[in-house]
Amino acid sequence: MKKSRTSLVFFMVAFYIFASYLWWAFLLIQKNDLLLEQTLLNYQLEYNIANDLPKGDKSYLTTADYGEMIKKHESQKWMVFGEGFVFLFLILAGTMQLYRSFSREMALARQQNNFLLSITHELKSPLASIRLSIQTLLMRLNLEDKFQRLLNNSLDDTDRLAALVDNILFAAKMENSTYSFSLESVNLSDLVEKQAARIQQLAKDTHNISTDIQPNVMVKADKIAMSSAIINLLENAVKYSPESTTIAVKLNTKGKQSLLQIADQGPGVQEGEKLNIFDKFYRVGNEETRSAKGTGLGLFIVKSVSEGHLGKVYVSDNEPVGSIFTILLPLDISVVQPQNQQFETESTVS
Ligand code: ADP
Repeated sequence: MKKSRTSLVFFMVAFYIFASYLWWAFLLIQKNDLLLEQTLLNYQLEYNIANDLPKGDKSYLTTADYGEMIKKHESQKWMVFGEGFVFLFLILAGTMQLYRSFSREMALARQQNNFLLSITHELKSPLASIRLSIQTLLMRLNLEDKFQRLLNNSLDDTDRLAALVDNILFAAKMENSTYSFSLESVNLSDLVEKQAARIQQLAKDTHNISTDIQPNVMVKADKIAMSSAIINLLENAVKYSPESTTIAVKLNTKGKQSLLQIADQGPGVQEGEKLNIFDKFYRVGNEETRSAKGTGLGLFIVKSVSEGHLGKVYVSDNEPVGSIFTILLPLDISVVQPQNQQFETESTVS
């Protein structure tokens, strides 16, 4: 939540507490006044009857009991004010303390985010230059096979590191809203096809990626951000499903939306975790028991990108095992869309 919005909520709560206290005090005092009026009237009646005085006689005003009643009423009034102010003070002090802690947290989160932004920027250029050097060595030198293999491994590691840095940078930008989506008309079918082929190439020895992509599905999207979301889902599917299994990628349209589904045959996501996994840094289980490496940023990026495009992402169960990640995006209504093909439900993707 943005700080200004939270401040507004805090001040509204504080104002509400103050106003309700005043209202409560006003009602209580009014009730006490009415009660006193009634008691005095009764007292006057009883006093005048007991002393054989006419009905409207006011000599009861000079009695000790009358003075006592008035004193008691006054002290009750001050008690209401006193207790009310203590209560009000405690509530307001608590609210202010909460607000101060929250502001500190926000400042810390901002600092961390800025740190992430600057450190990742700093990491990008040396990584690019290492990559270039390795590529040059590979091209220019006639190296023995084993040295070529070593350099190729280094190149792969550099790419992995660069992808990680990109993810961190991207997530940090999303978090502090410095990333603005530059929307253009994008052929989502081509984009999905391209990224599926790329990940298939990387996972050619372990997984089979099957595609069923309706051609020319057009959306208004930020190409870089959308590619990153698709890559994150595909990489997760590879990372979390056993070797030799198939990952099914399906792109279709449903009404005014495009529907991208990536289904794997991995362990699936438990019901209670289905919303949590989209939180920043959230990973299921703990570091000791987890075998797959990761940062917990991938699905946060997928969610931020989908929602940034007025779409949504969710996970459901695949049959008989695994999970299906679905991204729904509004179609680009400024272009003619392909005819809607048969639309299959979540559990029929694999
Ligand atoms: P990371 O993969 O780096 O841990 P993500 O944000 O991509 O972070 O995913 C968050 C968590 O969601 C993962 O730790 C994993 O437990 C779960 N998850 C993501 N994709 C899948 C999948 N395809 N199958 C099963 N679990 C998944």
